[in-house]
Amino acid sequence: MDLLLTGGTVVTMNREREVLVRADVLVQEGRIAKVGRGLKTRGTRRVVDVTGKVVLPGLIHGHLHACQTLFRGRADGLELLDWLRERIWPFEAAHDAASMRASADLTFAELIRSGVTAALDMGTVHHYDAVFESARDAGFRLVGGKAMMDAGEGVPQGLRESTAGSLAESLALMERWHGSHDGRLRYAFAPRFVLSCTPELLREVARLAREHGVRIHTHASENRKETEAVRQYTGGQDNVAYFHTVGLCGPHVTLAHCVWLSEEERHQLRESRTVVCHCPGSNLKLGSGIAEIRELLDAGVPVALGADGAPCNNTLDIFHEMRLASVLQNPRRGPRAMAPMEVLEMATLNGARALGLEDEVGSIEPGKRADLTVVDVSGLHSSPMPGDVLSSLVYSARGSDVAHVFIDGKPVLKDGVLTTLDAASVMASANAHVERILRPGKRLRARA
Ligand SMILES: [Zn+2]
Repeated sequence: MDLLLTGGTVVTMNREREVLVRADVLVQEGRIAKVGRGLKTRGTRRVVDVTGKVVLPGLIHGHLHACQTLFRGRADGLELLDWLRERIWPFEAAHDAASMRASADLTFAELIRSGVTAALDMGTVHHYDAVFESARDAGFRLVGGKAMMDAGEGVPQGLRESTAGSLAESLALMERWHGSHDGRLRYAFAPRFVLSCTPELLREVARLAREHGVRIHTHASENRKETEAVRQYTGGQDNVAYFHTVGLCGPHVTLAHCVWLSEEERHQLRESRTVVCHCPGSNLKLGSGIAEIRELLDAGVPVALGADGAPCNNTLDIFHEMRLASVLQNPRRGPRAMAPMEVLEMATLNGARALGLEDEVGSIEPGKRADLTVVDVSGLHSSPMPGDVLSSLVYSARGSDVAHVFIDGKPVLKDGVLTTLDAASVMASANAHVERILRPGKRLRARA
């Protein structure tokens, strides 16, 4: 026996959505073996008393850009297309492998510290090996891929690639990383968005993803000006409708945002069982709009939750995102629009679907991988304890309340301290690298 968590309030997210009080979770060989009361501790190598704390399935970000974390706080006050062309693309083009590693280390340190165990990540065009290396060493569960950009206005020289080059670099990364480290690291094709991709590239990605059983991760209908530009670019088609014509739809596809959808596109998403990732913090900060998530869920579309990039949020705290996902629907649909349990489903079960890992993670059930987040909800800002622990988790808890995190049953956060990364050196390295690559006077060319 490897690990036993004892005496916690276990939010299982199983089919019955059981919340077990004073319960134990037994982990063997990296997977959950038993969940229940009074499990025997005899022979267990490691017993962790979690009395008074809440045990959750490891929380999951369904849309993230680890490459952008280094640029937090350097792109405020801009709308999507200006934010990309004036800041983010030139910043991304300035990355080298060492700065990318620093950005990824900072990302996974922040995520683990705040209870996130897995993410679907989109890189910049180059240096994606550094993100996988960082996740490998951090013990983090990552589904990710390099951004694909073989078209587009305002794309800097360092990011523009040929169709063949983009496909070749993606396939080489897939060969190196997909399924490695006991399946903890997986590849996902990441065409950036319609405006940065030729139709030829998208059709080939659709074909290759089916051939290799790999996910596709992209952006759709985030901003109104973007959706107008997509209509021009595609000869009058809406974004999601266009993705359907080139084959980018299905349960293996995750579309971030989906703020501006037609009724027909909602229908297409439901029929194709495509996964949507809602990013409320990013949508609010960039002024993109309010995604009609209540309507998507009612239509049967699976919706996950994500932070998007640090420079458009500016936090990667999933508790912040959970609270926003709930309250953001209220002005439109009333104060009961989104129950705390539905928001937790987005951050666990639907997050697992966004990563294509619904059989492996997302709930605390025997057979699933032991990705677990233990939260202490006894702080000043959570007191007194309400009758409903779910309310406490969604409305008042913060990432800093997370006490312990396990991935594959291995402790990656113990009593609030990272075990695989050193927070002080991660921050020092991030500061040094961002100063180095964006130093004043260094030319950041927006246009080729
Ligand atoms: Zn994004």
